[in-house]
Amino acid sequence: MAARCANPACQAIRHEDEGKLFRIEVELGDKAGTRKLKTGSLWLCRRCVRKMNPKIEVAGNIVRVLLAAIPAVPAPVARVFRTPVN
Ligand SMILES: [Zn+2]
Repeated sequence: MAARCANPACQAIRHEDEGKLFRIEVELGDKAGTRKLKTGSLWLCRRCVRKMNPKIEVAGNIVRVLLAAIPAVPAPVARVFRTPVN
């Protein structure tokens, strides 16, 4: 179980009631239908989970879990609804 924030630039120690725990499941199967489940987890602290998300990347024979920055959300645009005048 993850004991520290997965962001290598962060030193936060895991607290049960903060941040977000991600469960990683990789199902390995073959053509005969045999399946094996490999699991792992990573935890992001409250501060880091606001700015990054885990992403799975397959590069050759390596499966990586990367921490990708969450794109900035544009500020909501105020909408003005006008009632038609008759
Ligand atoms: Zn963190």
